[in-house]
Amino acid sequence: MAPIRLVAATANPHKLEEIARVLGDSFELLPRPADLGDVVEDGETLLDNARLKAVAACTTGGAAAVADDTGLEVDALGGAPGVHSARFAGVNATYADNVDRLLTALVGIDPGRRTARFRTVALVHHPDGSEVYATGTVEGRIAEHARGGGGFGYDPVFIPIEGDGRTFAEMDDEKHALSHRGRAFRSLARKLAGQQQRRHQPQGIET
Ligand code: IMP
Repeated sequence: MAPIRLVAATANPHKLEEIARVLGDSFELLPRPADLGDVVEDGETLLDNARLKAVAACTTGGAAAVADDTGLEVDALGGAPGVHSARFAGVNATYADNVDRLLTALVGIDPGRRTARFRTVALVHHPDGSEVYATGTVEGRIAEHARGGGGFGYDPVFIPIEGDGRTFAEMDDEKHALSHRGRAFRSLARKLAGQQQRRHQPQGIET
């Protein structure tokens, strides 16, 4: 079967690489349309924001588009930064600024109370207005100091429960097996492949 073609809504090279790796050869990921401007992510939920990005990429790219939105939910902070993860330390915050703000907010909180999770919603929007989406989460805790040079965002301070104590930033491909984004996109890929198979299945003959 021909690969499923999807326009990518993200221009973030880290995310693109992760998504392409997780989706594999059954999918062809087309680059974000050059004329797609910044999408204002002012939704109240991760699903709203993933939809805003996928709809914009679909409309501009003229083909089915895929987008994702991720939030880090820290229990000791009542679930913050959540949908505001990208701008936790301010509108123009860098990854390092956000990590610093998080570590500062958790000063004095002992390891047992530093529980957190990443949650991703991955969504495909088709030109006919239909959509498919899937969610992935990974449970973990926030380290007391940043560790590791890989990954991006909050990776240097996120220690997944199912790992061996390393942060995501200290892992290579192992991150994809455990991660929220890996889980969301694997689930999305299964749903899309199932849809495509049903579309290509010969219709039953009624007797
Ligand atoms: P986005 O809206 O999906 O781009 O994610 C919002 C923010 O969450 C990003 O700016 C990053 O700070 C953080 N983030 C998203 N995915 C990851 C990840 O896989 N590891 C660490 N941080 C992430």
